[in-house]
Amino acid sequence: MTIKIFRNFSEIATLSSAHHKNGRRLNHDDLGLIKNGSIVFNQEKILWVGEDRNIPEDYLRKGHAEIDVSGKVCVPEIVDSHTHLVFGGDRSHEYTMRLNGASYEEIANSGGGILNTTKGTNALTRNELLKSAQQRVKTIRSYGVGTIEVKSGYGLSFEKEYELSHIIHDLKNIVRPDVQIINTFMAAHAVPITSPNSYQYMKEVVLPLLDKLGEEQILDCVDIFHEQNYFSHDDVVSLFERAQRWNIRVKIHADEFNDNKGAILAVKHSALSADHLLQTKEDGIIALANSETVATLLPGTGLFLGKPQANARAMLDAGVRVSIASDFNPGSSHCDNLILIASISAPMYKMSQSEMWCAITLNAAHAVGLKNQGAIVEGLKPRFSIFKTDSIDRITYNWGKNLAN
Ligand SMILES: [Zn+2]
Repeated sequence: MTIKIFRNFSEIATLSSAHHKNGRRLNHDDLGLIKNGSIVFNQEKILWVGEDRNIPEDYLRKGHAEIDVSGKVCVPEIVDSHTHLVFGGDRSHEYTMRLNGASYEEIANSGGGILNTTKGTNALTRNELLKSAQQRVKTIRSYGVGTIEVKSGYGLSFEKEYELSHIIHDLKNIVRPDVQIINTFMAAHAVPITSPNSYQYMKEVVLPLLDKLGEEQILDCVDIFHEQNYFSHDDVVSLFERAQRWNIRVKIHADEFNDNKGAILAVKHSALSADHLLQTKEDGIIALANSETVATLLPGTGLFLGKPQANARAMLDAGVRVSIASDFNPGSSHCDNLILIASISAPMYKMSQSEMWCAITLNAAHAVGLKNQGAIVEGLKPRFSIFKTDSIDRITYNWGKNLAN
């Protein structure tokens, strides 16, 4: 197997001790910074990492490909663990209505909201949706993000949701191995107007479709929107139990509008992550801290809608594994740049530098079930993000500026 050597990064943030601590209760030095660092790796794993002057002689003698990366910074691969990037239509007008004082109801009554995107998505062909999603992935990749979770959920019918899951599957095959796509089934995103209630929609569309896609083995995760007027506790349980039958890991949109005990439900079903958590109270935070479930915070949504934010500091202090994702979607967070979101939200959340980087690398990988990446240590997968700057400080200090290699 071909061995490559990256020589002389100005800085490598290994996150090795963060990895050792399962991404919890981090100290400032858990960034694991190495100056003038080098990495030896093959396609499958990292073989060695350390200061360039300490590279084992053996690797240098054998004439492996050496790549000069001086003046650059390397971090574990950045993972956007929550996006809704397969959609049609445009909702910029709703944003303007909101700026001009329209309420959520007024926007919904004028044809806005998720159902607007459902209309726009259903108006596009499979190929049109694939092409636009591919373009969005390309843009996200340009920021240095290498793994992207993509949810279905704007079709809201058996046929269109089936098509969306297959579009994500096609996308995954097109962009690999440069970009890893995580295919998340989220037909339980909203109840379509054609169904009388969530129970009927689950019974007639979501669960049978999960069985079909489960049989085809193209899904990585299953997700559901657990809120009043969306999907109930019982809907979540029926979906999670069905996913378990197919050996598919689960995720949940939880406690965004109200504390519906979604975080506790997630922990009970060993969910990979519980996402949003704006309203989660102490009992939910304690449950998360005592579990492997990652708390995925989506600050872009609160910022864009002018809503409050999750209590990140309480979660971090309690020992919860915290991740940050973009929630890139056409309605509540039309921002595809996770690094920009991390730059803005870390000071708002009162996160340290190591907590911020861990939230978009190691813990984000864990949130999509990838336990063999997220730190630059021997034995893990060689998935890195590289930046054209000589200091990790500058990557997020220059907020909104793209320094990716
Ligand atoms: Zn979402």
